Amino acid sequence: MNRFNDEKLYIINTCLWLKKQGYVFGTWGNISMRLPDGNILITPSKVAYETMTPDDLVILAPDGTQLEGFRLSTSEREIHRRLMNKRPDINAVIHTHSPYAMAAAARTEGVPAISEEMCQLLGGAIPLSSRFVPSQNHVELGEVVADSIGNSNAILIRNHGPVCLGSDLEEAKVCCQVTEKSCMMYLSLLAAGNISVIEDKYVTAGRDYFLNSYGKS
Ligand SMILES: [Zn+2]
Repeated sequence: MNRFNDEKLYIINTCLWLKKQGYVFGTWGNISMRLPDGNILITPSKVAYETMTPDDLVILAPDGTQLEGFRLSTSEREIHRRLMNKRPDINAVIHTHSPYAMAAAARTEGVPAISEEMCQLLGGAIPLSSRFVPSQNHVELGEVVADSIGNSNAILIRNHGPVCLGSDLEEAKVCCQVTEKSCMMYLSLLAAGNISVIEDKYVTAGRDYFLNSYGKS
C-alpha cells in the first residue's frame, strides 16, 4: 500500500473537481496538504489530472527537501511551502487559474469585504500580492505571496491567479468557491459603481463567529 494513499487520492479527486468547476485547465493549478508528520504532500509538475496516480505525488519537508516521489513537484511549490510555514493554522493550499479571480488579480488592489461569506470563510477582504513577480522566479514569488497573505484564507497573486487556504482540504475547496464568487461579484459591482463594504468590526466579528460559535448554538 502506498504511504498516505488516502490523502493522495483525496488530492487527485480534488484536482478533478477543480477541473470540473472550470477553475483549472491543462496541467495548471496545484494542491498541497500538510501531513500529520509535518511534511507537505504536493502535486507534481506537468502531469495531467486524468492520468495522475498516487505514485505521481511528491512529499516535501518544510525546508523544501524532496523526501518522496520520482517526479518533480509543482513549479509553484514555494508558494505552498512558504504559506504552510507562515501559517500554522492552515493545512491545505489550492492554487487555481479560475477566471474571475484571475481578472481581479489584474487590478491594482485586492477585493474588499463585500459579503458575510467573505468575512466568515475567508476572514474578510482578499489581499493582492504586493508586486508582480514572473512565475519562473519561483522563490521570489513564494516570498512575496507569503509576505502578503496576512491572516486571510485567500490571496490573489498579482497578474496570475488565486491561492486558497483551509484548515483542511475541504475548507480550501470552499475557499476556492467563495473566492471565485466574490471576485465575480466585485467585478460586477465595479461596473455598477456603487459598493457597500462591510466595516472592519463586523468582518472580525463574522470570522470569530464562524471559527468559535457557528453550529454550536
Ligand atoms: Zn499558477
